[in-house]
Amino acid sequence: MSVVAIDGPSGVGKSSTAKEVARRLGFAYLDTGAMYRAMAWLALSRGVTDPVDVLEQVRGADLEISTDPDDFAVSVDGIDVAEEIRSAEVSENVQTVSAVPDARTELIERQREIIAAASPGIVVEGRDITTVVAPDAEVRILMTARDDVRVARRAKEVHGSADAEAVAATASLVTGRDAKDSATTSFLTAAEGVYTLDTSDLDFEQVVGTVLDLVKDAE
Ligand code: C5P
Repeated sequence: MSVVAIDGPSGVGKSSTAKEVARRLGFAYLDTGAMYRAMAWLALSRGVTDPVDVLEQVRGADLEISTDPDDFAVSVDGIDVAEEIRSAEVSENVQTVSAVPDARTELIERQREIIAAASPGIVVEGRDITTVVAPDAEVRILMTARDDVRVARRAKEVHGSADAEAVAATASLVTGRDAKDSATTSFLTAAEGVYTLDTSDLDFEQVVGTVLDLVKDAE
């Protein structure tokens, strides 16, 4: 079984890259951010903010996530939340869960179970996959891009354009979330043995091609 671990900040293109690499390799795909988002959605819907309550909620929740790169699905206690977890409200409140160490431990355990069950391989993306979740992965990559590039990409995704207004509305959201995430996970510089893939001046096909080359090299 092969594991391809991809970390990086928001707006760097991790999800689209990881999904496409999984498709081409016939691998499973795990979006760990979606797991944090699903738990944050639950916390928001119940008005839970206290770390002790957050942990209890994460422990008790029935969290299901698909690993098919062509058929994304995530549910909490049987409720489909695939769309809800992409809302601005969830993005802004996700640290209610991701900043709680014991809640992380719980989710990391589930991530490792999913990884262990995947066959013939899995592409896993997040913030701490190369360092904490799967440090023994055959391929470990940290995707980076200049701030302006990431903000423009996210603006396009959310607003459908990267004009001045869309960029201004997106800038503080992207860099603000990264700054907060950096307090719990280390994803701005690569750990030893982790390949840094700067995507600032590469197009999508070049990024995917580079990851596939790294997978081939590791075989
Ligand atoms: O990747 P995505 O932007 O969907 O992640 C949402 C949030 O989940 C991040 O901002 C971060 O707080 C958290 N996260 C994390 N560790 C991961 C993946 C995501 O803390 N491995």
